[in-house]
Amino acid sequence: MLINLPSKVRCEYLCPSCGYRGAIEFSDPDAINEPEPIPGNSRILAAQAFRAAEVALEKRAHRALTLVRCPSCQTRDRQGTRRAYRRALLPLLTLAPAIFMFCVIATAFSVPAVVAAMPWVPIVMGCAGLAAVGPFIVQRAKKRLIHEADQAVRFLPSSGPQPS
Ligand SMILES: [Zn+2]
Repeated sequence: MLINLPSKVRCEYLCPSCGYRGAIEFSDPDAINEPEPIPGNSRILAAQAFRAAEVALEKRAHRALTLVRCPSCQTRDRQGTRRAYRRALLPLLTLAPAIFMFCVIATAFSVPAVVAAMPWVPIVMGCAGLAAVGPFIVQRAKKRLIHEADQAVRFLPSSGPQPS
């Protein structure tokens, strides 16, 4: 048995700064528009899978909604972007040891005389490398998260400006 899991969900957007309300449609950016196989012919299992996918989709939609620009006042929710910043730190955490080691080893190889006299120099270079590259990686990851949200969320035309 094959079922089509939902890849779009509608929910309401509420702007925390100006109180604008509007309907949006969130489309899953990773959706594969293919029917999913459900073991056996169980309608219950199919319904459960559908509901689970719907819940997961709603969760992602709400997360994306904290990142999009309000169509009325053009601001992004500060708290949402701060959360995006924290999530963007994750790729840095996985890359940090490699960047640090690279700088340490590169320094040790390129200026061995300096390192022999001052063994702390490679460590300083490692920290400097992290300080130089870290913000760049985090900024890029944060931009990607916000861009993804902008792509996935569509404000529905029916949602005109309303008094708050
Ligand atoms: Zn607003």
